[in-house]
Amino acid sequence: MSRRRKVYEGKAKILYEGPEPGTLIQYFKDDATANNGKKHTTIVGKGILNNRICEHIMVQLASIGVPTHFIRRLNMREQLIRAVEIIPLEVVVRNVAAGSIATRLGIEEGTSLPRSIIEFYYKNDALNDPLVTEEHVTAFGWASPHEIDDIMAIALRINDFMSGLFAGVGIKLVDFKIEFGRMYENDMMRIVLADEISPDSCRLWDMTTSEKLDKDRFRRDMGGVSEAYQEVARRLGIAPDLESRIHVVPKVVN
Ligand code: UDP
Repeated sequence: MSRRRKVYEGKAKILYEGPEPGTLIQYFKDDATANNGKKHTTIVGKGILNNRICEHIMVQLASIGVPTHFIRRLNMREQLIRAVEIIPLEVVVRNVAAGSIATRLGIEEGTSLPRSIIEFYYKNDALNDPLVTEEHVTAFGWASPHEIDDIMAIALRINDFMSGLFAGVGIKLVDFKIEFGRMYENDMMRIVLADEISPDSCRLWDMTTSEKLDKDRFRRDMGGVSEAYQEVARRLGIAPDLESRIHVVPKVVN
């Protein structure tokens, strides 16, 4: 067991102190939760797949100039990241109606939205991450008007890039959730993409069959979660070595 200091443990990831000041190690667990933690299970290999998929996306976003907290992947389950001050918002970008927007506004799942829509949810488990407006965000000081402008501009660039990335491998990017942080460098502060991007935080549908290749398989008890995440990795051309390593895990028999 490692003696590193744990800085934070969330539902699907753990943050440890990094090797240098201003860095952290982000560890991807196999735990899956839904309904604000009420539903919980372990999906063998999920952390490994999310670590790889997240790395792949973060590296490509950095290459088109999107500032991110990602430094490099360290091993199967960990990546080195820059410590940032997390802005307490879940930023959701939607291209197609699904999940909460479909329910809230009575739009049939799968309906293309008239344009990409950005939503903000206040990160607060006790309140169930309520939907908030830009007015709430700035009035309560969760982010400044300038920061919100940056966040929206970066979120739309990420959406454009990822929509193309996934379309290229026959996957429709329905929606996704991202988080941002403040990074301080000398006297400068900038907004950077933080947390993760993976099938846990995106809705990904096969373009021809509309088969779900994301966490909705767990939320909706559809089964085949690990297989779906593996399919996403396979199509993105990542981790051909992973399949055997994930399936070989022995089952504990009581
Ligand atoms: N999402 C997430 N974490 C959350 C809530 C949502 O990553 O705590 C992602 C979810 O996977 C989907 C998008 O954000 O890609 C929009 O989710 P929605 O608001 O429809 O919520 P849900 O129906 O999942 O409760």
